[in-house]
Amino acid sequence: MKIPKKFKTYCPFCKTHTEHVAERVKKGKASSMTRIARQKKRQSGIGNSGKFSKVPGGDKPTKRIWLRYRCNECKRAHQRPCFRAKKFEFKE
Ligand SMILES: [Zn+2]
Repeated sequence: MKIPKKFKTYCPFCKTHTEHVAERVKKGKASSMTRIARQKKRQSGIGNSGKFSKVPGGDKPTKRIWLRYRCNECKRAHQRPCFRAKKFEFKE
């Protein structure tokens, strides 16, 4: 999926629609002590470890993409999840 880098959208600081520049939000490294990580560790080794199944267990085939929107008017940024897609890039 391709989206333009600049587009008009709502700015929560200006409280109107202004021109924004989008930026991809990179996900941080997953913690190894989360509940789901411990559960996966326990399950691995026997049968289908969830790697080949689509939901539940295993990761979903597509991930929700988060974008950071920087407002051109007030130069402040806010984050909002965008949509689900396998591939994602910006249109020039
Ligand atoms: Zn703004």
